[in-house]
This record gives sequence, C-alpha cells and structure tokens, in this order.
Amino acid sequence: MLDRDRCRALDAEDPLREFRREFVLPEGVVYLVGNSLGALPRGTSERVRRAVEDEWGTQLVGGWNSAGWYDQPLTVGDRLAPLIGAGPGQVVAGNTTSIAVFQAVSAALRLRPDRKVIVSDARNFPTDHYMVQGLARLLGGYEVRDVAEGRFDDAAVVLLSEVDYRTGARYDVPSITAQVQAAGALMVWDVCHSVGALEVDVSAADFAVGCTYKYLNAGPGAPAFIYVNPRHHATAENVLSGWYGHAEPFAFEADFRRAEGIRRFAVSTPHVLSFAALDAALDVWERVPMAQVRAKSVALTSLFIDLIGDALELASPREAAERGSQVSFRHPDGYPIMRALIDRGVHGDFRAPDILRFGFAPLYLRYVDVHDAATTLLEVLDKELWRDEKYAQRLAVT
Ligand SMILES: *Cc1c(COP(=O)(O)O)cnc(C)c1O
Repeated sequence: MLDRDRCRALDAEDPLREFRREFVLPEGVVYLVGNSLGALPRGTSERVRRAVEDEWGTQLVGGWNSAGWYDQPLTVGDRLAPLIGAGPGQVVAGNTTSIAVFQAVSAALRLRPDRKVIVSDARNFPTDHYMVQGLARLLGGYEVRDVAEGRFDDAAVVLLSEVDYRTGARYDVPSITAQVQAAGALMVWDVCHSVGALEVDVSAADFAVGCTYKYLNAGPGAPAFIYVNPRHHATAENVLSGWYGHAEPFAFEADFRRAEGIRRFAVSTPHVLSFAALDAALDVWERVPMAQVRAKSVALTSLFIDLIGDALELASPREAAERGSQVSFRHPDGYPIMRALIDRGVHGDFRAPDILRFGFAPLYLRYVDVHDAATTLLEVLDKELWRDEKYAQRLAVT
C-alpha cells in the first residue's frame, strides 16, 4: 500500500507530469470524471476567441473559405485518425455519436442486404442500442439480437463499445473483429470510452464511431467522428444524405450525388465554434505518447483499486488488461455516497442502479490525487458521512 510521500515521488518521476499544467483545474478538486467531460485545456479559450473574433468577427461569411471552416470535418478528421489507428482520408468529424452510430449501422446493413440480424449490446451506453432499435423499426424486418446470445453467423452487423461505460470492462478488439468478420458480419466499434485513454486501433473494423468530449477534452457538445474502412469507401452509403456528403455541394443540384471517399459521410454544416475547441484539444494530443498514457492509466486505476481494498465491491475487472481507464464499484447507496464524496472535493459520478464510477485521465491526474480521493472515499464510508439526508435528493444530471 502506498503512502502519500511515495505517491509524490511517483509524480516526480512521471513522464507525463508536465501535461497537467496545460489544463485548467479548479483548486481543491480531484476530478475523476474525465471519462464523461474532459477538463479544459489552457489553449482552448484563446483558440475559441480567435474563431469568434478573428475569424467570424472579421472574415464573416468569407471564413468558410479563408478560415478553413468548410473543410473542418475532413481536416479535423485527419487529426483524429492517429488516435484510433486510422490514416488520413478515413475519418470525418461532426454531428454526434448517436448520429454516427445510425450512419455506420445503416451503411453496414446496406452492404449485407441478405442478412436481417443486428447484434447489439443491451448493456452498452443506451443511446447506441436505442439508435439501433429506431433504425430496425424504420427499416422493418430486422431482428435486434443481444450480443450475450453469442451468435454472429447470420448477423449483418455487430455494434459494440470497446470499453463498457458502466464497469470499464474492455473488449479484445482484434480478436472480436476477426471473429465477427469470419462469420460474414460487419464490425462497428464505438470508442467513446477508449479514445484518449488507451492505444485504440480500429483499422481492421468496418466502421468506428466516437465522441471527443470525454478523454479527448474537446468540451461540452464537441463534434463526434466516424471511421470508414477504405475498402468500403466506394460502396458504403450514407443514408443521411445531406448536402455536405454531396459530390459538389455548391453546384446546388436537384438530386443527391454522393461524394468520393470519406467526405460522403459528412452530413451538414460543421459546428465551427465547437470545432475550434476540438482543434485546440488535438494540439495537446499531437504531443502525447499514447503508450505512456496507457501505462499511467493502468498504474492509477490499479492504485485506486488497491487503496479501496474490500471497502466497496469492485464492479470493474481486477485484471488491468481487461479494463479501460475507469474504476467502478457497486453499492446500493451509491448515489448518496457519491454526493457526499463530491461535497468533499472528489468528483466521480453515479450510474443507475448502483454504480459509483471514477474515470482516470492520465494527462492531468497525479498519483497523489488518487491517494487523496481514496482516503476521502474511505472516510465517507467509514464514518457513514453519506447518511446525511441532504445527499439523498437526486439532481437532474447524475
Ligand atoms: C458518451 C457516449 C455516447 C454519447 O452519445 P451522444 O450522441 O454524443 O450524446 C454514445 N455512445 C457511447 C458508448 C458513449 O460512451
């Protein structure tokens, strides 16, 4: 078990220690919610100010050309690509993850018209499963089968998240991708809870989707992205055939004619101000060795699990290789426990029905933060500080 001084020594040796200075972190807070909304990079305010004042304020509508707004979905997509093992011209940014899920799964179904089964994970972050259910209702004639049934042989597409949002459990992407494709189905990975937390490689998958406001720190409402394997670029169809996916949007033709390459998966006008924040976040990621991020993530999560010991029931895999960058515990009074903890400056979150969730963002968390978070949590449990009735009332966003 590590004491506070030993944690300080680990921080002094940490190869990523300089990155913490690049984030705005409120005094007195240990922020373990970077898996839900990442912290604010210091460069973001200036980059957003520039987009507002220097680009919009002075270039006005000319900004679509002169400030590169028009090409943002592709230029920023190219900057995201290395974070998921993809290359240039394979990722387009924009919209939201839910929209990207709809695009990826519907495109996969059009590529396997002979099959009528969509395999999805009922325990996945709900929006993915909801979007699949809506798509199946729209199309008619499709079965949505839960992955727990373990049958892919008649599936058109399999949609899974690399890291489970509740437990942090991690799928083995290469082996499942190979298994799904060997069964003749297409593989769609959602990397919302893995991109920026570990070395993601979805290059063998058919499609992948993800968001940028979690570990990537691009800010609330930041654009999502979709990866389409180049082997599908000529044939995959974007059913959300908005004008940005048209071969020549500014020809204003009456009928949709699809663009070549990944541009086909763009839908409509990019959220330029949100793209500015994403661009600033990527300035940081460009300098980050992801192997070091993963190594530190494993160390931080393992330390937290060790320090909590058997004071709470672990809901995450104990084996580091089998989890992402979060640690979850189960407790029937998880909600008031989390509220009491937040009241003492340690921010995690709660996921119904009984999960206490702690995300570890290695760029701005120190070993000493993990130590302090664990000490505070143990005190909340030991002294039953969570029993104060002010912690029982539910807030709108948990
Ligand atoms: C966070 C998350 C989302 C978010 O979807 P939005 O459409 O951006 O609201 C979707 N799927 C998974 C797996 C997530 O973790």
